[in-house]
This record gives sequence, C-alpha cells and structure tokens, in this order.
Amino acid sequence: MPVSLYDTLTRSISEIRPEDGKTLGFYCCGPTVYGPSHIGNLRTFLLQDVFRRTVELSGLSVKHVRNLTDVDDKTIRESRAKSVPLKEFTRGWTERFHRDSAALNMLPPHFEPAATDHIKQQIELIRCLIDRGHAYASESGSVYFRVSSFGNYGKLSRLKEREITTDREGPAGGEPIDADEYERDSGADFALWKAHKEEDGDVCWESPWGPGRPGWHLECSAMSMAYLGQTFDLHGGGVDLVFPHHENEIAQSEACTCKPFARHWFHCAHLTVEGSKMSKSLGNLYTLDDIQARGHGPMAVRYVLISAHYRQQLNFTMDTLHAAESALKRLRAKADALMETAGIDRDAFYDAGTIMKHAGEDAGAFQPAWEQLTRDLNTPAALGEAFRALGDLAKNPGAPGVAGKQAWGFAKIVRALGLDLHRDREAARPEAPEEIRKLAEARWQAKRDKDFARADALRDQLKEAGWRILDRKDGYELEAL
Ligand code: AMP
Ligand code: ZN
Repeated sequence: MPVSLYDTLTRSISEIRPEDGKTLGFYCCGPTVYGPSHIGNLRTFLLQDVFRRTVELSGLSVKHVRNLTDVDDKTIRESRAKSVPLKEFTRGWTERFHRDSAALNMLPPHFEPAATDHIKQQIELIRCLIDRGHAYASESGSVYFRVSSFGNYGKLSRLKEREITTDREGPAGGEPIDADEYERDSGADFALWKAHKEEDGDVCWESPWGPGRPGWHLECSAMSMAYLGQTFDLHGGGVDLVFPHHENEIAQSEACTCKPFARHWFHCAHLTVEGSKMSKSLGNLYTLDDIQARGHGPMAVRYVLISAHYRQQLNFTMDTLHAAESALKRLRAKADALMETAGIDRDAFYDAGTIMKHAGEDAGAFQPAWEQLTRDLNTPAALGEAFRALGDLAKNPGAPGVAGKQAWGFAKIVRALGLDLHRDREAARPEAPEEIRKLAEARWQAKRDKDFARADALRDQLKEAGWRILDRKDGYELEAL
C-alpha cells in the first residue's frame, strides 16, 4: 500500500516513494546537543519514527539518517559557560538524548553523523559554492552564501526575498541579524563559514579562509548528501526549520550540485504546553525526566506526543498523560485477550521479524487503522480505528480461526505506532494522594516492627483504595491498580 505525506515543497499530499524503488533515503535534522531535549523536540522525532515504521511495514526499506548538531552558537556558548571542552560537553547531552530515545521506544537511525566529524565535507561544499560564484569570503575570513545568486531561493518557504531577515544563528538567538556584525552585502546572505572569534575559545578548524567553524545550515547539507547522495527522497524536521534552515540547505546544496536536493519535505507542527509556547521563563519546558519525576511512564508520553496529527499543533497538559495511561491500559488488556485467543505469546507479538512476516497480509479488523497511517500519517485516526476494531471484536470475536489474523493486524498497528503496551506497567508510578502515602508509610513501619498482621491489613486497605504496594530492597513503591 502506498504511503503518503503532505509535502511542504508542493503544499500537497504526495506519495512518498523511494526513487530507486527499494530504499527510502530519509534525513532528519537531529538534536542540538547543548541540553536535554524537551518534549517538543521529542514529538518531532517520534512522529518521524512512526513514519519510518509505517514505511518499513509497507514493505520498503528506509535508510534513516539523523544528525547531531554538536557545534553551533548554542553548544559553544553553553560548553564555555560550564568550562567543559565542546566534545566532552556534547557527548554528555548526546548520551542523554540516546537514553530518552530508547525510553520512548524510538528506533535508532541507521546513521547518526556529528557535524564536527564532517568538517572536510563542509569545507568542500563551501569551496564548490565559491567556485561557482554563489559564495564569497569576507576580509575577516567568514564566508557567506550570496542569496541573490540562487534564483530559486524561497521556494520551500515561499518567502519573498525582502522578508528574509532572520537567522537562527543570529547574535540574539533568532532576532533579526545585525548585518554589520555578519559582514553581509545583502540582508539575506547567511554564513557558511564563521571566522574564529574570541568567544569561540578553542573551537576552531583550519580552512582555506582561515581558522573558524561551519555555519549551522551548512552542516545538514554536507551530512545529508554525504550519506544519502546529492538527491534523496525525504527530509524532515520541525516546522520552525522551514525557514531559514531548510531554505538555506536547499540553496547551498542545489547551487553546488545543480541537482534537486530533497525530493519531498516533511514538517511537524509544534507542541505547546498548557496553551503556551514552551519556554524556560514560563517554567513550562518539560523534559522526559521532568515528566517521569511526576510519576508518568515514557510510553504514556509517547502516546500523547503521537496522538495528534503531525500537521496539527498539540497542546500538552498533564491531563493528557492521565488519559494516555488509561488508553494504554485498555489497549494492553485487549492485546492480552487477543494474544490469548490466538495462542500468540507476548515476545512474538512485539517481534519485528515475526510482524514483518504478516505485514503484507490484510490487517483484518485493523485494516482501516493501517490505511489511516499510510494516508498522510493520520495517527489520531489510526488510534480511533484501532479502538473501534477492538470494541467490535469484543462484541463479535468471529470464528476462532480468524483470531490470529486479527492479532497480527493489531500487532502491526502497535508496531507502527511504536507502542510497547507492557512497558510502562512497571515504570508508571502515578503520584499517590497524601492519605495513601500515609497508609503506605504506616504499613512500611509495621513491617519493620515485624507486626505482620497490621502490615497485611494495611496492604488490604491500600488495595481497596486502588493501590498496590510493591516491596523493594530498600523500601517500596506504590502502583495504581
Ligand atoms: P533542536 O534540538 O533545537 O535542533 O531541535 C530538534 C528538533 O525539534 C527540530 O526538528 C526542531 O524543529 C524541533 N522542535 C523544536 N521545538 C519544537 C516544538 N516546540 N515542538 C515540536 N518540535 C520542535
Ligand atoms: Zn538540519
């Protein structure tokens, strides 16, 4: 079944087919590793993960490349502020990102190039652009892309040139650029190579234009083409990257190769929190750790983040997590029942190879859910269809012989969404109300006093109130029933 997405380049839903008919080349702008990813960043990566899973389940291969932005204004500024060498600083945040990604059940990309490991490719790209008259070096040793030299500039974002005045790497972090400081000959030219400045400390590489470092936009052009070729199938990121980052990537790449860069563009809408943009000053910038510390498991976070369509802004609230937890619980119970009827064990239900063997078959009652995923990655509609199918099957399970087909149909949807329905059961620890915590403390004390009758009575009382107490080596945990 063909898989489609809304292509930002054509502003229309397009079938996303690999040019070679087999393997989809998919480049995603990865994290800037200067701090923990917030749940907005994670939403974009999760939706890309669901798309990759859907393409794979449709019978194609994917070559998934997601870079690490490990040198830019922010990484340098933060590493210097902490007096930690850049490489060491970004390594720590990269590890944290990997940990979050694994907790959220994201498939690791096939390649994860770091910008600092691809300086040579970036210098070659700049050299090509200078040779072709698309870039110029300033006296200070910075190199800029001459936007007026590239006739197609603005084709992705559809901006008129006069409106182009901002650069994410600008001195004020997204404010309009101070042209003097950036030594531009036109308001829209952007840096490919930044001459070394005092505030860069020891972060610098030699280049034909003197010591310096690459511009952020250049990094992704060089790395995507290094791993996927000059023309590749799909490029993705959050909607904030359409301009200027992706516009600049197109300009740099196509001006050098004279070939189309990415054939399709996939952008995810932003996440807001309690109706506002996430920001440190509003105190609503959440990381996965922040949410786990409030007792919610990562699978509930995954569920919430993929439960709105990728082109729709998602407003995150703590209530959405509670709703996700109960939805996961219902899905888990239905999955267990389906597995039991079909005689499938849990390992097989989640095993990628086994699911792939059945993926080409009709998904039975879950075929409408599957079709929603393949059609512009409609994750909320797919979830809705899956619940509807589960409800129908509960009322009318059909002949015993078809139970396997239904179970594999459901396993395919669960795999595409990347939900591990059995994982959060252990991880989720919703915060218990005070009276429950007091009862649990009293029971713990009774156990220490070897008053086992009282401890058992308190345990029963907790159970009646909807809480299970789990003994651990150095204490206990409370789990909502
Ligand atoms: P960064 O680590 O800032 O380079 O961003 C990593 C990814 O997260 C990029 O694709 C961004 O476009 C995306 N992103 C940033 N903020 C948000 C947000 N609030 N909601 C969804 N995606 C976001
Ligand atoms: Zn990028």
